[in-house]
Amino acid sequence: MRHDIVIVGAGPAGLSLAHGLVSRGVDALIVAPSGAWHATYGGWRDDVASCELGAPLNALVRGAWSTVRVVGRQEHRLARPYVVFDNERLQASLGAGVRVLDDTVTGVQHDNDTSNVHLRSGGVIHARLVIDATGGGSLLARRGQSSGAQTAYGLVVGDQPDEVPRRAKVEADVFTLMDWSTPPTFLYAARFTDGRVLVEETSLYADPPHDIDNLRARLTQRLGVDGSATAHRIERVNIPMGAPLPVRTTRVVGFGAAAGYTHPVTGYSVAASLRATPRIADAVCQNLAQGRFGSELSLAVWAAVWPAAYVRTRGWHEMGLSVLQSLPPESIGEFFDAFFNLPPEQWGAYLRIDSEPVLVRRAMLGVFRNVRNGVRLRLMSSPGALLRALGAR
Ligand SMILES: Cc1cc2nc3c(=O)[nH]c(=O)nc-3n(C[C@H](O)[C@H](O)[C@H](O)COP(=O)(O)OP(=O)(O)OC[C@H]3O[C@@H](n4cnc5c(N)ncnc54)[C@H](O)[C@@H]3O)c2cc1C
Repeated sequence: MRHDIVIVGAGPAGLSLAHGLVSRGVDALIVAPSGAWHATYGGWRDDVASCELGAPLNALVRGAWSTVRVVGRQEHRLARPYVVFDNERLQASLGAGVRVLDDTVTGVQHDNDTSNVHLRSGGVIHARLVIDATGGGSLLARRGQSSGAQTAYGLVVGDQPDEVPRRAKVEADVFTLMDWSTPPTFLYAARFTDGRVLVEETSLYADPPHDIDNLRARLTQRLGVDGSATAHRIERVNIPMGAPLPVRTTRVVGFGAAAGYTHPVTGYSVAASLRATPRIADAVCQNLAQGRFGSELSLAVWAAVWPAAYVRTRGWHEMGLSVLQSLPPESIGEFFDAFFNLPPEQWGAYLRIDSEPVLVRRAMLGVFRNVRNGVRLRLMSSPGALLRALGAR
């Protein structure tokens, strides 16, 4: 079997890129074990509204909110709409017309022009380019690794007569992105159009990760009741984070979480993958049309996956994470107050991995200006992080 492009992985990243390639007429095949997506994938509406989703965004969401609530020391009501995808519909829409081979890739070998993709079933597929969208990036190389993660324990419960939504004060039209009233973890909560309610006790990135059973205990303490036994579904979140970006000269090219698209502070990557799809699909088309093969093709596509400017942006994001981690729990609320008191375009730019570095730096300086002296001193005590940001590669 021979294809121009083989994408390994059918999560949001792999499926989005396959959709982008197929709609540009590229011969692309996904190899991945079949399966539904179970996680709750959310993001800011304006980040994803103009992405290539195969259908209007409104038809692909199971919740949309006009207001987002953040509680630090103050309560912020942010007039920036937020959505949560309907996984089944998004999967169907992105997957329309995409060929998926239900198998697992065990390894890839390369000769000058061709990559040979070995399957668990025993077969081999020949491709001009292989994209690793496996989430963990098992086909890529990294200099260094991390044992850190963002973790969360969540309950999906019925609306009535369940006690949990009432105690969590979940409002119908408001998405609670972060309630920091009991640091060092925060509440993430929302009511969906089907009446179900999600309440999730969440930790920011930590190494070692925050224990999920402890998060369950903290959620129970926050609500005064353990809703686990009556919940429709329990969401245990573990998002591996903190690893350096992959080596970007390899023949296999990464995409999505595999390529380090997970935002170092928020743990989000779905919008980043959707937003990057047209850029990378265009680069693939152009380079195939120009007759590129082998390493030359891979390098050109890597440059679209991680343009140099966004690598510098990553350095600033990592610095932001370092300073946030240096804060004592009682200062985290003040930090987020300062962040969300910035003009929306500034904090919005910080939350995207594809923002120009100058915009992310501006947001960080704004936070620095907005916090009190005690917190400012702590922010200044991360010179190592600053150096890493300045030298990000
Ligand atoms: C519970 C949870 C909630 C989250 N919520 C959000 C959110 O609200 N917003 C957000 O932006 N992000 C969220 N994230 C983080 C992140 O966006 C997800 O981890 C996302 O799934 C990453 O997408 P991906 O397509 O890059 O990788 P994945 O979704 O991990 O997909 C990887 C794919 O590769 C396949 N695969 C792996 N190895 C092989 C192999 N060897 N051969 C073939 N196939 C292989 C897998 O079967 C799968 O199909 C959440 C994560 C979790 C766990």
